[in-house]
Amino acid sequence: MVRLQKVESMAADPSTLYLMRMETSEDKPPHREWHGTHHAWIFRPHAFRWAGPQIVGINFVPLAKDMRAWFLQQGNLPILSTADYLEIDSYYNPYAYSGSALALAMARVVNAFHDFTTVESPELDETDTEIERIRLYNEIILYSARICEVAIKQLLYCTNIPESRYRRMALGALLESPCPSCKEKNGAKPHQVSLVGTLAHPFHLCLEFEHCAMDHMDLVNRLRNSQAAHSGIQALKIRSIKESKENLLVDGEKILSGFLHMLSHLQTLEERMLDDLGKKAEAIIRLKVNGLEPEDCNFKLVPGETFTFEHPAIDP
Ligand SMILES: [Zn+2]
Ligand SMILES: [Zn+2]
Ligand SMILES: [Zn+2]
Repeated sequence: MVRLQKVESMAADPSTLYLMRMETSEDKPPHREWHGTHHAWIFRPHAFRWAGPQIVGINFVPLAKDMRAWFLQQGNLPILSTADYLEIDSYYNPYAYSGSALALAMARVVNAFHDFTTVESPELDETDTEIERIRLYNEIILYSARICEVAIKQLLYCTNIPESRYRRMALGALLESPCPSCKEKNGAKPHQVSLVGTLAHPFHLCLEFEHCAMDHMDLVNRLRNSQAAHSGIQALKIRSIKESKENLLVDGEKILSGFLHMLSHLQTLEERMLDDLGKKAEAIIRLKVNGLEPEDCNFKLVPGETFTFEHPAIDP
């Protein structure tokens, strides 16, 4: 039995509709040619949710899709809490839970950004307004980068790439990092590996990731590192309330439009993976219904390839 996911309403502010026009923005980040190699991988059993030996669903939430739908007022954000985790057949992908929390928190930030830039706030003087501008600017950058990270890690969790490899990685390293097996060989100069490219590879999405999505991720990552993660931050520039607010409106829209566009690429990847896993789950369920024993369920689930299974030879 497939349990329906608990989703509570988290309606987008009607005025976030302006993001729709922003999504087609020509405002592209500087082009960056990525050279990290892409590697073969297979799905691991953790790609599915299980009730005992039965597959009951896929073990990730389409976070990029849901976040983008929220921005476009076409859907709600998933609310996954510790109570869901305790249910027998629930998601056990840890990044689904942190992804839900991050998306819901970011929605608050975007609503606060919208209110601040469109509604008058007589309780704030020029200095207060400028401090609030910096706070919101930082949070928009921070959450954009964190949502990219968690959406990618959530998908990596379904693969046979060991979690120890990426658990502590920030976005920049997910985009490109030295190959660990080469690094271990003495004296070898390790080549670069892209885990983001590796995920996209079997679904023939390398080009759109290399030439667009990863440029957006790189930009938000560099902004986060220079403005919103360490000691670096914009200086206060006390000016009129109107100017402070307009400045945030321009900067915030620019980041969010890039973020929204980047989400559209991640959404495509999520949809390809869901579709692929859905078909594989069906094939496995059929095999089990036809009497395949659990101990024979040792499948090699190659992403993007139709799953076929040869019954183990029976001893004569
Ligand atoms: Zn290597
Ligand atoms: Zn590739
Ligand atoms: Zn693009």
